[in-house]
Amino acid sequence: MHATDDFRHQGMRRRLVALLREKGISNEAVLAAIGKVPRHLFIDDSAFQMRAYEDTAFPIPCGQTISQPYTVAFQTALLDLKPGHRILEVGTGSGYQTAVLSALGARIFSIERHKPLYLQTKERLARLGFSASLSHGDGFAGLKREAPFDGILVTCGAPFVPQALVEQLKAGASLVIPVGEGDVQEMQVMKKSGDGAIEVTRCGRFKFVPMLAEKVK
Ligand code: SAH
Repeated sequence: MHATDDFRHQGMRRRLVALLREKGISNEAVLAAIGKVPRHLFIDDSAFQMRAYEDTAFPIPCGQTISQPYTVAFQTALLDLKPGHRILEVGTGSGYQTAVLSALGARIFSIERHKPLYLQTKERLARLGFSASLSHGDGFAGLKREAPFDGILVTCGAPFVPQALVEQLKAGASLVIPVGEGDVQEMQVMKKSGDGAIEVTRCGRFKFVPMLAEKVK
């Protein structure tokens, strides 16, 4: 296991950033954040850890996955976040996406339904110096005590758009959510206007693990 971040990892990360740029990611702040976060330290399995800078999703504990870097960059760019924004993430998983958001200077709240992942990732983010407020809970309910948010990002495939998440958006803020049952979801951006109306933009097809209700101990 590589517990460190050395020049080889940094070199592989620069190549990953170049690849994401080729694939169409143009938001410089997002690319810089991808260039800063040591993805190999968010993957435990040593065989997959060696491949951490490939643009691929890998298995993590509890039968979940660390999202593909392209997907992380694409979703993050859709959030259009500014330093200091309060962002809610649903589906903490490995904490990689959480760390990318944190590297962009946002204040992150993240919910995970699997307790072992919540505990492991809380320890990991603290150890690596990324600040985020993590909760073990059910993302269908959002996080009412910290609402409203400047943006909400869902990193699992939602069977429908949870009303609580729409309610917890500030005016002008967006919910970025992959919607659909089965293997493939459609990325939707739901932007709330000043009068509370929602404008939906559809941004292509992606594959996520499913969003499931209720906490798992
Ligand atoms: N952002 C993560 C993605 C992990 S996969 C990463 O890059 O590592 C999606 C995660 O969503 C899984 O960890 C899964 O357990 C979690 N999840 C699924 N349904 C959920 C729900 N209702 N509330 C909170 N988390 C949920």
